[in-house]
Amino acid sequence: MKTHLFLTGFSGTGKSTIGPLVAQRLGMPFVDLDDLIAARAGRSIPEIFRQEGEGAFRAWERALLREVVAGPPAVVSTGGGAIVDPENYTLMAERGLIVCLEAAPETIVERLRSAEAESSVSERPLLAGADPLARVRELKTMRQPAYARADWTVHTDRLTPQEAAMEVVRAWGRLVGAVHWVGEEHVATVVASSAGPYPVMVGWGILDRLGEAVVKAGVRQAAWVVTDERVAPLYGDVAMASLRKAGLECALCVLPAGEATKELARAGEVYRWLAEQRAERGHGIVALGGGVIGDLGGFVAATYLRGMPLVQVPTSLLAMVDAAIGGKVAVNLPEGKNLVGAFHPPRLVYEDVATLGTLPERERTEGWAEVIKHALILDREFLEFLERHVEELKALAPEATVRAISWSAAIKGRIVGQDEEETLGLRTILNYGHTLGHALETVTGYGQLLHGEAVSIGMMAAARLSERKGLLGPSAVDRQEALLRRFGLPVRCPPVPWEPLWAVMARDKKAEARTLRWVLLEELGHAVVRGDVEEELVQAVVQELMGP
Ligand code: NAD
Repeated sequence: MKTHLFLTGFSGTGKSTIGPLVAQRLGMPFVDLDDLIAARAGRSIPEIFRQEGEGAFRAWERALLREVVAGPPAVVSTGGGAIVDPENYTLMAERGLIVCLEAAPETIVERLRSAEAESSVSERPLLAGADPLARVRELKTMRQPAYARADWTVHTDRLTPQEAAMEVVRAWGRLVGAVHWVGEEHVATVVASSAGPYPVMVGWGILDRLGEAVVKAGVRQAAWVVTDERVAPLYGDVAMASLRKAGLECALCVLPAGEATKELARAGEVYRWLAEQRAERGHGIVALGGGVIGDLGGFVAATYLRGMPLVQVPTSLLAMVDAAIGGKVAVNLPEGKNLVGAFHPPRLVYEDVATLGTLPERERTEGWAEVIKHALILDREFLEFLERHVEELKALAPEATVRAISWSAAIKGRIVGQDEEETLGLRTILNYGHTLGHALETVTGYGQLLHGEAVSIGMMAAARLSERKGLLGPSAVDRQEALLRRFGLPVRCPPVPWEPLWAVMARDKKAEARTLRWVLLEELGHAVVRGDVEEELVQAVVQELMGP
């Protein structure tokens, strides 16, 4: 089992700086093997070399590496020569992912020099001779075959430590997730998260194999299924039978369907139901249903017993491509939507696309708005795919639909994997069409326009604003409109007074203490965030969209 992440690479490639950043992002402890050796030996590494020679140092290294891999999962930075030892390499390869940090010899010498300048003791033997660059080149060339055996290499010359750390986290998500889920044909993507990578599995008619995947995701003994009254009679039995077949005890908690269920009192009911079932920490919560159940079930999983493993089994299109991926879970308050919540990444997202066959047509149509959004903001090739397959997708033709949902889920997964808690602002582009869309939902009263419908109108406003700002040509705006229309999505704004609409947009801005930022398109498949969109322009565009 691969549980550890080993950082290797020559001196000066940044292992000790980047290691803690990676550990923090993955929620794992950090171990600097050289520091551990020095602490145990009671003297510095150069002292060990001087007093006992390299052989003694390597013996320390081997023994402590063995000790570290026997412990809990950790990010381990190893000394530059550790991986050269075949015994160390085998151990590391068996027990984890090896990422090599690379840098050019010139960068290495420069970094070692500035490190030396910053510290009071000069203990950099690499810099000791007359030509340090030649010495670094020679030693690095000798070790290069060992470094080449790493699973992944990150070139750090032009990266900040934070950027390099993100590259390592991404590699971990891709490789360890993929390794762990090897042999699973339905893995559409593996999402990196602070709680470890998790797969999004997408297939047609795969609900009866849910149990195997849930067990593989690490859920033990029991899985408590939260669902709603519409989904339960359709898919409750199949899901439960599959969980039982995989050896899990299970039971079904059925809640009323609809947004009103996403509230604290309902969460309280589920807590008490879990207590009656004697749910324990290693047991799983399976959220089987649309985004409401995903958010509420996820919120319960984040809080009951201070957190339980969560499996998302989305059955609405919106939940499959959006709500179930990314770890955001929440309930509403009368004062506003999603006000109480958490980031609680799932262990697994399991999507049986065939379940969309029973989703009411209007809900299915609105879900395509989010799919089209993913293509518009990030992936022109995906946009072309959607344009080519509209009819098949509307008819839920299995092959095209599985492909489109996998593609869309992978785009969402990639964004949230890079900016899990919205700290870097990368998630912002997912708000394409949402500034006006959200205001329309609020002003027209929730329910009149479905979320995806409001987003579709919002995307038309954003596209026209992009055009007015000189970013997007008129033919691109028409192309977006044509695609939305073909999917049966609204592209005109219902008559709504301007003042309250603007008030909602401005309130969001105030709440976040910044200027109103619009996600616009620079071209189809490429979003940008702009803060310079004037109210008059927005009003003009919205008026235009209310016209015939
Ligand atoms: P929903 O959960 O209310 O589902 C819509 C309706 O479809 C419900 O009546 C449900 O019972 C029914 N349904 C679901 N699957 C079905 C199926 N296969 N067959 C028949 N009926 C089915 O709503 P939704 O649109 O799925 O999700 C909306 C919610 O998602 C909102 O609360 C929103 O805040 C949330 N959301 C969360 C995130 C996130 O990142 N956490 C992102 C987007 C939206």
